[in-house]
Amino acid sequence: MIDNKMNRRSFFSTLAKITGVAVVAPAVLTTVFSSAANAQKKRGSAPAAGGALPLIDPNDSVAKAVKYIEDYKKSPEAKGNHCITCGFYTKTEVRAGKEVGTCTIFAGKVVLGDAWCASWNKRA
Ligand code: SF4
Repeated sequence: MIDNKMNRRSFFSTLAKITGVAVVAPAVLTTVFSSAANAQKKRGSAPAAGGALPLIDPNDSVAKAVKYIEDYKKSPEAKGNHCITCGFYTKTEVRAGKEVGTCTIFAGKVVLGDAWCASWNKRA
């Protein structure tokens, strides 16, 4: 079958002949996916490289229901509290200079660390 001395180029060439499918080198795929991820990062809320979660849209029905606001300082109801100090929050990364993290009430999304919602619950 595959000779241990077979180099990378001949391996992909052989694989293409066997399967009848053009095989794209991993380096090309990495470049393609990296470009797509960078374009999404520039938009700010779409998934980034590595399958990062999108940012919650403040106009999302659940977000509206819990009065989610991206800047806690703009809500008197927040009383200085924000996602970073909430027990439902887990930091995941920093995007465009802003900390983001997951929140148990927004499955599959991330929230801004400086956001707040009416479900805020003091971190233990
Ligand atoms: S529940 Fe907590 S972490 Fe989630 S959006 Fe509200 S304040 Fe932020």
